[in-house]
Amino acid sequence: MTPDTDYNLQLFQRAQKVIPGGVNSPVRAFKAVGGTPRFVSRAQGAYFWDANGKRHIDYIGSWGPMILGHGHHSVVEAVQKAILEGFSFGAPTEREVELAEEILSLVPSMDMVRLVSSGTEAGMSAIRLARGATGRSKILKFEGCYHGHADALLVKAGSGLATFGNPTSAGVPAEVVQHTLVLEYNNIEQLEEAFVLHGKELACLMIEPIAGNMNFVRASVPFMQRCRELCTQYGALFIFDEVMTGFRVALGSAQAVYAKAIPGFEPDITVMGKVIGGGMPLAAFGGKRAVMVQLAPLGPVYQAGTLSGNPVATACGLATLREIRKPGFYEALGAKTQKLMAGLKGAADLAGVPFSVDSEGGMFGFFLFDALPQNYATVMTTDNTRFNTLFHGMLDRGVYFAPALYEAGFMSAAHTDADIAETVAAATEVFKLL
Ligand SMILES: *Cc1c(COP(=O)(O)O)cnc(C)c1O
Repeated sequence: MTPDTDYNLQLFQRAQKVIPGGVNSPVRAFKAVGGTPRFVSRAQGAYFWDANGKRHIDYIGSWGPMILGHGHHSVVEAVQKAILEGFSFGAPTEREVELAEEILSLVPSMDMVRLVSSGTEAGMSAIRLARGATGRSKILKFEGCYHGHADALLVKAGSGLATFGNPTSAGVPAEVVQHTLVLEYNNIEQLEEAFVLHGKELACLMIEPIAGNMNFVRASVPFMQRCRELCTQYGALFIFDEVMTGFRVALGSAQAVYAKAIPGFEPDITVMGKVIGGGMPLAAFGGKRAVMVQLAPLGPVYQAGTLSGNPVATACGLATLREIRKPGFYEALGAKTQKLMAGLKGAADLAGVPFSVDSEGGMFGFFLFDALPQNYATVMTTDNTRFNTLFHGMLDRGVYFAPALYEAGFMSAAHTDADIAETVAAATEVFKLL
């Protein structure tokens, strides 16, 4: 490399000629923050190196899956071994059974689980299952929660509680979202009104328990409890989308966090992704036996996948789960995350910048506000210019946070105290620019 050549820019220009926007998932294009996306050439532990050979401390970790850090030796070993045995068979394998058993042993609300290849697919299938199992059509979701890009979920609130949603993407016919009701996150009053109006027609309520697609917003305990009670009362299935939070916020996932505050708390269906694949395309949905037996080939709800339960992906996921279930894993991960949050908060305070932080296990969020927001509308009042100054200031100093203010951050087991200290030192400089 010659010092004045920007290989990230060269690659981005080349990519834009052959891939829409130069990326295979929109947020990677840096549209929200401006500038040139970093093309990753390799990664190890807590770091990745971009096309210019520059090292970054990675707080995205593939948007959550890399909880052990990149290239963990036991995961690499498991994947190498699996690859030599074959890439894909389209027939069942013992490893799928092992992974299913492992997931169920860690998340007791599920009696059975089906493996698929992406969170989108898992969420979409969970909704079909809920509709098939209840014989009802309507579904309820919350503004700011992302459940993948299935048509029925690309929707924003209609004009009132009596009206259903409007599409948020071209190509989604209004008819397809006419059964989707969108409510404000953490608004108990609106939730109760919606159930009075539509509760008996609802197949399911789907929620991100800790919403990581509006940065980091927790469902309050009373709100969560009310969701559970109303679903039970009206016979709607309660779907926890734990694609991001699953095995990320605690060994038992977000449902275990809420069960501490609400005794006996359980969702009816859980959707998983990200960490369970350890960086390979793998996701899952599971729930109570009575619901899961509605799925084909046992029941009338169709669902299938050529690469579902892929032998390399399941090897990667299994090896990952076996590491994270070791004693003390989440205590250490959570302590590191808290240390980073306290460091960033301290740096912001020093510069007099309004700042609030929250985290659970290895997932975190920070806001340029004094108080933590409770819903999407508040998150979106963030000053974009200030956020972008923060993002690019950190990026220039080799720290990679999410290139959009509505995304969470992720700690891995590979991050060291020195990485955290380096991050906080960079933030101390950057906050002075705000
Ligand atoms: C990432 C994510 C999805 C979608 O998963 P993909 O694998 O990207 O399709 C769904 N729900 C939540 C909560 C997510 O964070």
